[in-house]
Amino acid sequence: MSKFTRREILSAFLGLPFALAACKSDSANEFPDGDIVGANAQVGHILRENRNVEVSANNWENTKVAIVGGGAAGLSSAWKLQKENFSDFVLLELEAAIGGTARSGADNFTSYPWGAHYLPVPFKENAELIALLDEMNLTEGRNQNGEIIVAEQFLCREPEERVFYKGRWYEGLYLRAGANEDDLQQLSEFQKAIDFWVNWRDTRGRRAFVLPIADCSTDAEATDLDKISFADWLRKKGFTSDRLFWYCDYACRDDYGLRLGQTSAWAGLFYFCSRVRSSGEESQQFITFPEGNGRFVNYLHEKIRNKTRLKTIALEIIPNEKGVDVIYLNTEANEVRLSVGCALFARAV
Ligand SMILES: Cc1cc2nc3c(=O)[nH]c(=O)nc-3n(C[C@H](O)[C@H](O)[C@H](O)COP(=O)(O)OP(=O)(O)OC[C@H]3O[C@@H](n4cnc5c(N)ncnc54)[C@H](O)[C@@H]3O)c2cc1C
Repeated sequence: MSKFTRREILSAFLGLPFALAACKSDSANEFPDGDIVGANAQVGHILRENRNVEVSANNWENTKVAIVGGGAAGLSSAWKLQKENFSDFVLLELEAAIGGTARSGADNFTSYPWGAHYLPVPFKENAELIALLDEMNLTEGRNQNGEIIVAEQFLCREPEERVFYKGRWYEGLYLRAGANEDDLQQLSEFQKAIDFWVNWRDTRGRRAFVLPIADCSTDAEATDLDKISFADWLRKKGFTSDRLFWYCDYACRDDYGLRLGQTSAWAGLFYFCSRVRSSGEESQQFITFPEGNGRFVNYLHEKIRNKTRLKTIALEIIPNEKGVDVIYLNTEANEVRLSVGCALFARAV
């Protein structure tokens, strides 16, 4: 069998430019051309400095709503306002590109997500999100239970997830290989606890964990779970299996960027329960695109492009008797402006 050089192997998997850069003799710390995508540190420092800014009188403007942040949340708020024929708003985004953690990119060959890559198919109760999916022509009607049918080409049929352990890949996120009887027994007990919460309803028929979060139960039995960490919840339930702890820790890192001890039991259980309609059912399917959730971002942005101000940081939001004043800085023009009377109340200037 012929031997491959390091450059040939890197070239086969990562492309020639990477291989060339990686194999230069003095290239230990060199990367191929490109930028690290993500929050701009320089801009972040401006926020951290807590600058005291003077706003000159002619730099005031009056809008009824200022949306701070052009991630999925900000963009969908803007979409909602626009749908309600409300147009007196601006959206301020500190980065040069829209999308936040659902941002995407494209090259000559394909588009790709930088962060969020899929959307679990919403339950029928999630009317606002379904309205967006309908509007984007991603749905093909409803089934006999009233649940949406997503067009096949937008579904990810095989969302395989694997764990790399001791030099090998294993299917699934829970490492079954090498699990002993006690591990598997605890996994089964854990699943029962999840089933309990999936089926749980409060006196008003609300689920404990569901999207949108506004529909979640506010009963103490559910909300008290926010007072303890997921790690403590597991321990209180008598769980000790390292594998189970690793699995739950993975879930917290994946969804919240936090460890098991830093995530509340409410948030941890939300991960496991909110995408399952009723116990025993599979988790909801995933809607995905080459650019991941960037498809939603770009669609929403297109609708409100003329209301969007990129490279614009909200420095301060000051409540007043009529709403709030938003002091913002355009990092390109280095211009500080004041948006007056935001959040539904206008103030005469
Ligand atoms: C790597 C990764 C993978 C993910 N995968 C998935 C997935 O597959 N499916 C899924 O559903 N979710 C996923 N998520 C989570 C998902 O991306 C987020 O829940 C969602 O996009 C958050 O949207 P947001 O608008 O609340 O916040 P963000 O995306 O954080 O957007 C906030 C925006 O506000 C801007 N901003 C902040 N402060 C200011 C300021 N002072 N002035 C002006 N602008 C400001 C930021 O620049 C940013 O653009 C993933 C997240 C990451 C990081």
